Amino acid sequence: NAKAEGRSRTMFFESLMGETVRARFQLEAELRLAILEDQLRLYLQPQVNSSGVQVGAEALVRWQHPTRGLTLPGLFIPLAESSDLIISIDRWMLSAVCRLLAELDAEGSSIRLSVNISPRHFQQADFVSEIQHQLEASGADPSRLVLELTEGIVIGDIGDVIAKMTLLSTLGIHFSIDDFGTGYSSLAYIKRLPIHELKIDKSFIQDCTSDPNDAALVETILSIAKHLHFQVVAEGVETLGQSEFLNARGQIIHQGYLYGRPEPAAVWRARLSQSGATDL
Ligand code: C2E
Ligand code: MG
Ligand code: MG
Ligand code: MG
Repeated sequence: NAKAEGRSRTMFFESLMGETVRARFQLEAELRLAILEDQLRLYLQPQVNSSGVQVGAEALVRWQHPTRGLTLPGLFIPLAESSDLIISIDRWMLSAVCRLLAELDAEGSSIRLSVNISPRHFQQADFVSEIQHQLEASGADPSRLVLELTEGIVIGDIGDVIAKMTLLSTLGIHFSIDDFGTGYSSLAYIKRLPIHELKIDKSFIQDCTSDPNDAALVETILSIAKHLHFQVVAEGVETLGQSEFLNARGQIIHQGYLYGRPEPAAVWRARLSQSGATDL
């Protein structure tokens, strides 16, 4: 009958939800352990100027899971962002990046490294002193460090955002707005922040050579950047066509599979010392 059917359906959904909650719970517990047991890995992806010289790299986290193997951020960063776990992950990455920067500096390389900062992490009251501490502990040059923020940060207390960014800029740190154009921030806010760079989201780059709307959006972002004196990084550059499209429109830094996939820090470094990368 209908009543029994209704009950069994409810039970079915409850058990489905139970699985999801349990799976989430397990992933969260495993992630907590991952940080303690050193299962996170620093990967780097090259950023190349219009002459093809590597001027920087983006730090991207990977999780070397004991049974699942190498795990991409898409599978754990969203979950981590719903708790303080993301702060531990970001801190682990920051510290690895600062140490690498200091080592590269000692080798005479002037490459810059970009690291992703989640809004929850940025909103910590001690964010500025944490960064300062990381820089001091590692001896990294602040002017080689780029913090990638998303438009999501301006949803918070804008005064606090401006104050923190201003303090860190004074130290020489640069800020990049990641996935630019996909968030909710208004140009009025963007204008008020000490930003150095915009990263054009890969969703706009993907079809920029075939879809006039995407081409127009890329050109609009380039125009905003030009007028506000921001540097531009295009992410997700996969084809020569996309790269030519961008090069025809200015001095843009390219990041994407066309130039290199994210690789373990040691592999990336070996390649860097072969190619002898330099300044902007
Ligand atoms: P994102 O910061 O926008 O990073 C760019 C993503 O695009 C990376 O994915 C990169 O591997 C991918 N990508 C680069 N070039 C290409 C290309 O040519 N084609 C395509 N299809 N994809 C390309 P990944 O490494 O899977 O990271 C995904 C996201 O996870 C990042 O997006 C970032 O939002 C987040 N994330 C990664 N590491 C960290 C971290 O340490 N902390 C925080 N808070 N978030 C992180
Ligand atoms: Mg990024
Ligand atoms: Mg991005
Ligand atoms: Mg992203």
